Amino acid sequence: MENKINVEIGKCPQDHECPLVGICPVGAITQDGFAAPIIDQEKCITCGACVASCPYQALSFE
Ligand code: SF4
Repeated sequence: MENKINVEIGKCPQDHECPLVGICPVGAITQDGFAAPIIDQEKCITCGACVASCPYQALSFE
């Protein structure tokens, strides 16, 4: 199983509220303003929901 989610900041336009914050089942995603989302790797269970849902494919398994 993959064990880390990578956020490719350059792919995120950083101009909107990240929809993934509400999608994560364990609350591992936070966002400061409209910045790219931050993954709390301690909380993340690598379910892949955020990877599948980002419209810019900015998240991936590392
Ligand atoms: S992989 Fe799942 S648990 Fe991890 S940050 Fe994404 S939505 Fe949350």
